[in-house]
Amino acid sequence: MNNFEEYCTTFVQSVGSKDGAVSPVLIGSASFGYGTPQIAEGIFDGSVKKPLYSRMGNPTTAKLESILAEMDGGIGAVATSSGMGATTLAVMSLLASGDEVISIGGLFGGTYSLFSETLSRFGITTHFFDVDEFDAIQNAITKNTKIIFLESVGNPNMRLPDIKKIATIAHEAGVALIVDNTITPLSILPLKLGADIVVYSTTKIISGNASALGGCAIFRAIGEGEDKFKSPRYDFLAKFIKSAGGMALIPNAKKRALRDFGMSANAHASYQTMLGLETLPLRLSRVIQSIEIIVKELHEQGLNINHPSLVKHPHHARYLEQFQNGCGTLFTIDMGTKEKAFEFLNKTKLATITANIGDSRTLALHMASTIYRDFDDETKKFLGITDGLIRISIGLESPHDIINDFLQASK
Ligand SMILES: *Cc1c(COP(=O)(O)O)cnc(C)c1O
Repeated sequence: MNNFEEYCTTFVQSVGSKDGAVSPVLIGSASFGYGTPQIAEGIFDGSVKKPLYSRMGNPTTAKLESILAEMDGGIGAVATSSGMGATTLAVMSLLASGDEVISIGGLFGGTYSLFSETLSRFGITTHFFDVDEFDAIQNAITKNTKIIFLESVGNPNMRLPDIKKIATIAHEAGVALIVDNTITPLSILPLKLGADIVVYSTTKIISGNASALGGCAIFRAIGEGEDKFKSPRYDFLAKFIKSAGGMALIPNAKKRALRDFGMSANAHASYQTMLGLETLPLRLSRVIQSIEIIVKELHEQGLNINHPSLVKHPHHARYLEQFQNGCGTLFTIDMGTKEKAFEFLNKTKLATITANIGDSRTLALHMASTIYRDFDDETKKFLGITDGLIRISIGLESPHDIINDFLQASK
């Protein structure tokens, strides 16, 4: 099991500074004085690299962006007010009325409603598929398809995608692939597997302790030769490619989404997020080891557990081959009925009942009565939401304490 050694070095070294303040400098100012009208003009035309206004970029947030871009091997990143802000930024920067999206996997509730309820009001159609419907995915691509959207791990259905295979489909069709990698930072590097944009909710394990809402979109460089983003499908990018070259997806995201929708990161949250990042590799490597111990024991004790490390899981082979660094902090327990699920949640002493995931503490939530309460039966079936389903996010506690607590709660 990889312990994310290289990140242990790079994160603490890049967050801390050797000259002056060691902890990142927190610049809370919303606006910045330009000094002279000449400098103001230069800032607005891009020839002077100084902050313009915090909606368009903030020095503290810029530091976070550069660390996250490096983490995933991107050319740059845009941090946002939340994970939904990052998804909205990435998709709205590429979409116009009449376009189509292909969305694959067991989707996070907010993303599902963004595609199905909200973007549909603006004339954008989304087609939803399970991770293994490769032929149907390929056949659904039309000249209007601008985005294939994928989650690295189904939340909460725990299905694992073959990211490389889907990236190949996207690449051959010349369509952008966006991966929501919130559940598996460091474990999965989507840009290296062929994705074009990665989005995160940094609220989750990246911050790690419920102290800061935030998100980030990380972009790959556009190639100097042929590139899918130079095709007529993305003709609106041409002017940004002309002015910014390989960086084009960043001004495109800032001018077509951030400037006008305003999902900008808050400098205080960016500061907190960097403090979380310093210990991300340590926390993640502990949790991905604990979770296998926990799910194995609970499964052997007769609980109905869903996690790809269990041999019974349909994607167990894929877990062993492609998710060698684990698949995050989540698993589910199906207690059979809502009553039994509530009884479990009332009896657990360790789990905090909340909608968050990826925290230092173990968290739990009954799915059907909370996040998915407004979804009809057919959608719940597609997303794998059953009456007794509890989602668990494992924290830093001793795995044996968690096992003992869950066993007493399930009796
Ligand atoms: C939480 C979450 C989001 C949304 O993030 P917020 O910071 O709450 O807006 C998006 N995708 C996934 C997979 C998530 O778990």
